[in-house]
Amino acid sequence: MNTPTILVVEDEPSIAEVASLYLKRAGYDVTLVNDGQKALDWLGLNTPDLVVLDLMLPNVDGLEITRWLRTRSDIPIIMLTARREETDRILGLEMGADDYVVKPFSPRELVSRVRAVLRRTQGTAAVGGEPALSFQDLSIDPKTRLVTVAGTEKALTAREFDLLLVLARHPRQVFTRDQLLDSVWGISEFIDPSTVTVHVRRLREKLESDPSKPCHIQTVWGVGYKFEP
Ligand code: CA
Repeated sequence: MNTPTILVVEDEPSIAEVASLYLKRAGYDVTLVNDGQKALDWLGLNTPDLVVLDLMLPNVDGLEITRWLRTRSDIPIIMLTARREETDRILGLEMGADDYVVKPFSPRELVSRVRAVLRRTQGTAAVGGEPALSFQDLSIDPKTRLVTVAGTEKALTAREFDLLLVLARHPRQVFTRDQLLDSVWGISEFIDPSTVTVHVRRLREKLESDPSKPCHIQTVWGVGYKFEP
């Protein structure tokens, strides 16, 4: 397999250096950019396997970059955010970022989050043999990672797809948010369970004809979520 490439967009030199050093040591091919416009320029010409993206950046901020990227691709995005940027963090997840790390973070935490995201996006795609799942108008193909509703292809981010797949593989089974964090995000200890809530909301907006009265992804009050075929 080729070495996965990672774009790190971060304007604070000390954080950028540490992140880049640890990711390189972990075996990734790392490109470092310290400015939002430069990130867009680079992404216009290159397709990395993952983007580590600071939110507060000179010229073009991280949210803008997330929006721009999501109109073009499903490249996984891990946001770097300060503790006080909670609103932006939620906004970033809603725009399609896959995950976030709160600064100051341990470089090992960043590396394990990158690994977990790449394992999901690259690992799942490589698994062959599992047939597509079909439920009335909804079809989910684990091999091609394609989701269609009434024949129309829906663009899901990597995490949205994985979340949907976990739920749909076990119809009517109730999952707590912690269980979903464990099976979709890989490591739950660093992640806020509201991440699951945000992803469920986005999935409903993309898949349900009336997201406020979802047929497939249902809330089990006080417990979590289940998939209703
Ligand atoms: Ca910054």
